[in-house]
Amino acid sequence: GEATIGVIGLAVMGSNLARNLASREGNTVAVFNRTTAKTDALVEEHPEAGFVAAETIDDFVASLATPRTAIIMVQAGAGTDAVIEQLAERFEEGDIIVDGGNADFHDTIRREEELRERGLHFVGCGISGGEEGALNGPSLMPGGSKEAWEALAPALRSIAAVAQDEPCVTHVGSDGAGHFVKMVHNGIEYADMQLIAESYDLLRRIGGHDPASLADVYAEWNGGDLESYLIEITAEVLRQDDAETGGPLVDVILDRAGSKGTGVWTVQNALGLGVPATAIGEAVFARALSCSAEHRDAVRSTFSDRPDVPTAPDGFEDDVRAALYASKVVAYAQGFDLIRAGAEEHGWDIDLGAIARIWRGGCIIRARFLDRIAEAYDDDPSLVTLLAHPYFAEAVRDGEAAWRRVVALAVTAGVPAPAFGSALASYDALASERLPAALIQAQRDFFGAHTYRRTDRDGVFHTLWSGDRSEVAAD
Ligand code: NDP
Repeated sequence: GEATIGVIGLAVMGSNLARNLASREGNTVAVFNRTTAKTDALVEEHPEAGFVAAETIDDFVASLATPRTAIIMVQAGAGTDAVIEQLAERFEEGDIIVDGGNADFHDTIRREEELRERGLHFVGCGISGGEEGALNGPSLMPGGSKEAWEALAPALRSIAAVAQDEPCVTHVGSDGAGHFVKMVHNGIEYADMQLIAESYDLLRRIGGHDPASLADVYAEWNGGDLESYLIEITAEVLRQDDAETGGPLVDVILDRAGSKGTGVWTVQNALGLGVPATAIGEAVFARALSCSAEHRDAVRSTFSDRPDVPTAPDGFEDDVRAALYASKVVAYAQGFDLIRAGAEEHGWDIDLGAIARIWRGGCIIRARFLDRIAEAYDDDPSLVTLLAHPYFAEAVRDGEAAWRRVVALAVTAGVPAPAFGSALASYDALASERLPAALIQAQRDFFGAHTYRRTDRDGVFHTLWSGDRSEVAAD
């Protein structure tokens, strides 16, 4: 075969990725799709790509130069398993199968092990940036073996987004590391979007802004510390009028936020790993609440007396900006904590600074802010958490008073700001000298003899709650 790389699955993501590959020096791209009409359409619409089109899976495999590399871009789950099997039956030792879909990283760990035993390389590669990223430069998060990475690196580097002269791709870690990190990326994306949405709601309901003036506020914020793709598109969305009503588009969009499941996965894994990723959790729950139409109707009609909305104090916009930035620091710190915990649990050697760097371009959470995160981990690779780094500590301290004013005002006004509030609570809990967890331990010891440790000496203790209430050593 003459093709240097192949793409299987030519729906929107696969076609765009194939076109991206074909447009780069050194790649000749074989393409295949279960339904041949899609292959034909792609090849016909893009003669410039010089695709090697395959009608059958056998033709596809035969068209690939050895060692073969094929990227699968089909529906996650059963479709991916089916295509992996079709390739694995035809591939030979040393060939590489890449799954670029949104796989559950547990599936990736399983598939990598099964294919390794059959002498094949399997690389689960997180791809971020949607359709547009796939075509013009995504952020790529490949897992799998070092050997597979070395073979794949030139092709992946050729198609990745570029941020500050560096391609947005790195070898994340072995087996499922890439898909795990992609999952956390999506969780952080949920949190970031929820925080922006809360800032919008506060500025609108308390600050008295209309969408058009808010578009200007966000556009201005995009020139500072908050500079990011999500802030930029927020300004554009708020500026958009609806052709039918002539009013702001955002006002005619049904207020129920959908999701495709990766946010839920992130929270499930955070719970399993015992990582308090509360901002991501609040963001996922907030979307679920928005979709609970029945509950919203029932409660809204029960509680028609809502608090009076106070007039916004002077400097409210600046306060909200500061609160948003401080909350965002906490949300990202939690996300990176989760990656660290996942890496420990699964034995992945993940360079957190490198992860921040490959998210600076191509993906949805791309932001100036990620440079600061990369610098923090480069400064101190063993940094316990971002909040403890001087740059972020100062950023939070600078915004702290404003953050408290905004959360307090939101609570008084009855405007829900769950992610702002929980990010602040997370910071306050971490910064507290003592936590009421001591009382919880005592309660647990009372009803279940679960024992406790003391602050003043080593050992494990139990109080004879149903006896004379003396303390006994329990270890
Ligand atoms: P879809 O997820 O809609 O999947 C459609 C493709 O899968 C078609 O090519 C279809 O072939 C193929 N397919 C499904 N089942 C089988 C099967 N059993 N055997 C062979 N082929 C099968 O396509 P998208 O382009 O939207 O997404 C591709 C992957 O990328 C998914 O895993 C998705 O989660 C992920 N994705 C990632 C995004 C990102 O931003 N990173 C954004 C969107 C998606 P046929 O034409 O014959 O039906």
